[in-house]
Amino acid sequence: MGKRWKNSRTSPSSSKKSSDVGYPGKTDAPMNQLAENTPGKVILAMGNEAVVRGGLEAGLGYFSTYPGTPASEIGVEYMKLRAEFPHIHAEFSVNEHVAAHGAQGASWAGIRSMVTMKHVGMNVAAEVLHFAGYTGVKAGFLVVVGSDPGATSSTSEQDDRWYSLHTHLPMLEPASIQEAKDFTLRAFALSEKYNVPVVLNAPSKLCHNIGSLALGSLPTDVAVKGRFERNPVRYINLFAGSVANHRRVIESAAALQATAPSLGFNRVFPGTGKTGFISSSINFQYLMESLALLGVTDAPVLKLGLTFPINADEVASFANGLERIIIVEDLEGFVEFQVKRLLYDRNVRIPIRGKEIFPAYGELDPDVISDLLGRELSKPLPARIGRARELSGKLTKDLPPRQGAFCIGCPHRATLYSIVKATDRKVIFAGDIGCYTLSCLPPFRAFDWVTCMNCGVGIAQGMLQKIEGEDVIAYVGDSTFFHSGIPGLINAVQQNADMVLVILDNKWVAMTGHQPSPTTDVAIDGSKMKPVDLKGLLKSIGVSYVRTVNPFNIKASTAAVKDALRVKKGVRVVIAEQECALQHGRRVARNPYDFEEYHQIDPGRCQKCNECYIELGCPAIRRKDSGADYYYYIEETACLDCGACRDLCPNGAIVRTEIRRMNKAAAK
Ligand code: SF4
Ligand code: SF4
Repeated sequence: MGKRWKNSRTSPSSSKKSSDVGYPGKTDAPMNQLAENTPGKVILAMGNEAVVRGGLEAGLGYFSTYPGTPASEIGVEYMKLRAEFPHIHAEFSVNEHVAAHGAQGASWAGIRSMVTMKHVGMNVAAEVLHFAGYTGVKAGFLVVVGSDPGATSSTSEQDDRWYSLHTHLPMLEPASIQEAKDFTLRAFALSEKYNVPVVLNAPSKLCHNIGSLALGSLPTDVAVKGRFERNPVRYINLFAGSVANHRRVIESAAALQATAPSLGFNRVFPGTGKTGFISSSINFQYLMESLALLGVTDAPVLKLGLTFPINADEVASFANGLERIIIVEDLEGFVEFQVKRLLYDRNVRIPIRGKEIFPAYGELDPDVISDLLGRELSKPLPARIGRARELSGKLTKDLPPRQGAFCIGCPHRATLYSIVKATDRKVIFAGDIGCYTLSCLPPFRAFDWVTCMNCGVGIAQGMLQKIEGEDVIAYVGDSTFFHSGIPGLINAVQQNADMVLVILDNKWVAMTGHQPSPTTDVAIDGSKMKPVDLKGLLKSIGVSYVRTVNPFNIKASTAAVKDALRVKKGVRVVIAEQECALQHGRRVARNPYDFEEYHQIDPGRCQKCNECYIELGCPAIRRKDSGADYYYYIEETACLDCGACRDLCPNGAIVRTEIRRMNKAAAK
């Protein structure tokens, strides 16, 4: 027997917060109840935390992820739990492809593994997951995907469930916090029994909702190390062997399909009505709420927890005696497609309606479902609901739209100011994904496209081969650069694309909640990380023009961008290097400077040129009306003293005051 980890605790061994070990991130986390071995105890947990707990109860040994909202917290929790569960290897990988390969390797070594990502990350991991289906698993291999119907934190709202039709990987869709944990726990055994990775899809409303969660027991004896056993028939996918493995995964899905009704993931809520409903995930809850609102009490409902594969007998049995079926699900109608096909093959000819009623875009919610269902069923909503919605509409209609903006003290704000000043917006701006995507909004409006990761350099390179006389500035953040930007940059260098690439290196995957990037020096559990030598890397791939600037030094940054544009030839890289304002603030809060500083606007010198207030747009700079006149001032409690406004003020009206602290300890 290999090395094993014994868990004999009933509660976390340390009274110290697991996150309270030097990480400049969240410091106010409560004691982590996810680590408790107290079966039956009910705690409040977020959907993502429920997934974490499910993995712990399943004896997870390997975890990898590329952070992406709405699934980011899963990785953060596993990192914070490393002290309590040292047998779990947990990592933030450089991208989803790498993360999925790592989890596959651990599974092949006989260790239960989990990889998590946001929905668009599936596109990056898809190649790995196709092969993972072919090769099968040795220990359970779970893929958790946080989906984002409505694209509230994404550039697309693609429906990843469709991947299962060609990867043949089983698809679980929990409908509650409890199911998020229970399905996660059960997914590993399912994966092992049917010899395929299992996918668990959780929409943002489930990932981020908080609800009650009954804990199960934690395993007391978990393998720390496994062993790789050669199996060329499965692991060497070549020629006829690849075809045989393709056949194996298809047969595996068929075997699961045959037994699906007995597995307990699906449930029928019987009813005498002639219209039946099929739903899955959080939409099942919305459907039940909507039916109750509409006074429909006799509807039979089939709740699917396993939405691929779907068993034909189970659906046909549900359809028996019904006059129509309505399917309630987000996006493109994955369940509807399968149900229509299965019932057609069974000669069931009743109307099956889904996407004719509910849109295939945007996010469904109880309001949308109850409205559209009410119309379909000719059942009006109760007057009190109509009145409540009318009032809510009145109250919200005059609210000003809220627009995203860079945080106060964000180095990206300063970088964008310098880029706009250096170019007067007379260049093509090749956007990419990260906090700096906010550059598309006022006051900067310096972003001409954003689609997927590495869309900046990647698209610009091809475009530059076919346009002339125009300068291009491409953006990429440090995390996106390491995720998928490096191949694009190498390609641009090899193809002699004439562009400026600005790498906005803020040292964190900031947009998804400050996970470490390869340029970060400290991990979430406080352990030291060795940052990648970005300049050395650029040099090694053939970038000869590299300048590093502190974005808060506006004059130097503007000059650097102008110089990079002037050179014209080849890829010129400007690294705007400055830590994310929020993480820097946390670092300073833990270890204060021995001075305090203040930035103030001298109204006697201010010419109201608007450079700081409008063009930079720092929210800490405020306008105060005073009779018929007005003046600008800096709100001291909001200002993070980045100094950008002081550097750009053409009239020297912004002054910095520094006061030495006599007692540094008192500042903590
Ligand atoms: S940049 Fe200087 S002069 Fe212009 S509004 Fe701001 S403080 Fe006043
Ligand atoms: S120093 Fe100026 S730009 Fe920086 S946070 Fe304060 S007000 Fe904003």
